[in-house]
Amino acid sequence: MSDDCLFCKIVAGEIPADMVLENDHVVAFRDISPKAPTHVLVVPRTHAANVAAVAASAPHELAAMAVAAQQIADDQCGGEYKWVFNTGASVGQTVFHAHGHVLGGELEESIV
Ligand code: 5GP
Ligand code: ZN
Repeated sequence: MSDDCLFCKIVAGEIPADMVLENDHVVAFRDISPKAPTHVLVVPRTHAANVAAVAASAPHELAAMAVAAQQIADDQCGGEYKWVFNTGASVGQTVFHAHGHVLGGELEESIV
């Protein structure tokens, strides 16, 4: 756990969140400010600053994140979704504990 990391505190249960899925490797919870009908954040239990850091230090956690993202989409939005990792403040990353945004349902027009 990293001191003063919001998502480490959610993983530890110190800050409440609307949990969608939990297992040994990941937790997933609804974004507090949803940008799509389905907007769930999938995070590894182990702190890492971004998705590449998870891949380098805990690839099994990244694999578990991918499986969880699909499970969430299967449950909530017909199995189809975008999976977005903002990486760096200049492109909008605001929480520096890796997280994939699972976005599904009717989406606003997107840049990709
Ligand atoms: P980023 O901009 O870093 O890719 O995504 C961070 C996301 O975390 C944002 O979409 C934001 O709405 C969400 N978020 C920020 N604080 C909280 C919180 O306390 N609880 C939850 N569930 N989501 C949060
Ligand atoms: Zn963290």
